[in-house]
Amino acid sequence: MEFNPFLKNIKTYESGKDIELIAKEFGLKEVIKLASNENPYGVSPKAKEAIINNAHLAYLYPDDTMSELKQALADKFKVQKENIIIGSGSDQIIEYAIHAKLDHSKAYLQCGVSFAMYEIYAKQLGVKVYKTQSLIHDIDELYELYKKYKNDIKVIFLCLPNNPLGECLDKTQVFEFIEKIDEDCLIVIDGAYNEFASFKDKNKHINPQELINKFINVVYLGTFSKLYGLGGMRIGYGVACKEIIDAFYKLRAPFNVTNLSLKAAYAALNDEEFIFKTLKNNFLQMKFFEDFAKKNKISYIESYTNFITYFFDEKNSTDLSEKLLKKGIIIRNLQSYGLNAVRISIGTEYENSRFFEEFSKIF
Ligand SMILES: *Cc1c(COP(=O)(O)O)cnc(C)c1O
Repeated sequence: MEFNPFLKNIKTYESGKDIELIAKEFGLKEVIKLASNENPYGVSPKAKEAIINNAHLAYLYPDDTMSELKQALADKFKVQKENIIIGSGSDQIIEYAIHAKLDHSKAYLQCGVSFAMYEIYAKQLGVKVYKTQSLIHDIDELYELYKKYKNDIKVIFLCLPNNPLGECLDKTQVFEFIEKIDEDCLIVIDGAYNEFASFKDKNKHINPQELINKFINVVYLGTFSKLYGLGGMRIGYGVACKEIIDAFYKLRAPFNVTNLSLKAAYAALNDEEFIFKTLKNNFLQMKFFEDFAKKNKISYIESYTNFITYFFDEKNSTDLSEKLLKKGIIIRNLQSYGLNAVRISIGTEYENSRFFEEFSKIF
């Protein structure tokens, strides 16, 4: 069968492996997943309660205006409801951004290594991809490339902080950069981990209200999958000026988010205790990963997220990940990004100690 010819150039997204499947495959009692940057403390307790209390609504289509959650996000960010769109994960809003702005005659720009979904959605449309030589965000190099191909580049992705490398630009660098970009180019600020970066260093904090008041060509993306512990509920959001949100709405299928996801996200947003516990423990535990790397001469980039990426010289990341998998520990091999590296999500104290125990043996 003939398919859309652009599909030939796409490598299917490789997801973190599933705990139950691995347990079955290797006959293991315990499997620890440090592969998809989920919240190691589980579901926000308030969200869990909301899911249980609203389970009886599962037979109904959700409120497609999503006004309860939109209003809560609008209040949180001090913007209007009209500035918000909710998606089945912020992934879906990445898709909207690409489809709203690009076609096969256009291009988008990103740093050398960033979130794989940008490229996948773009390539579906035959969009050209420009990447900097620098793997991490280098603002000068991004601008040089933009200047060179500005007639083609109609979307720029800034992942702040960056998945899968963990680094993060300062807010001032970001604002200075956007200032220099034409208003017809859409800048997507992917803030999937921005709460983690802001907690560690307030210079990394991106305030969506400030962003959209200042620029008409920017969309800020947030997700409930990481900090809020709702990866399985598939819910995220975008914040932008009304003109951008209206354009995205033309791409949206009705009822794109489930009613239980909406209720869970609404409850999670105010689960202050859970949020604080997650952020605080994340960076306390991160320290052990940094110390382990130093002790074992493994290179890493300082991370502003809930994961850390280890780079290897002689050892092979595929080999290391496979050996760990057999011991019931799932981490993310980054060979598919062209890197001899692994990304490890920061787990609970127990999960991390199990990782160090097994990893020390095979390393
Ligand atoms: C996890 C992640 C997302 C979105 O995740 P959803 O589960 O689709 O909300 C977006 N961008 C980056 C960089 C991510 O790591």
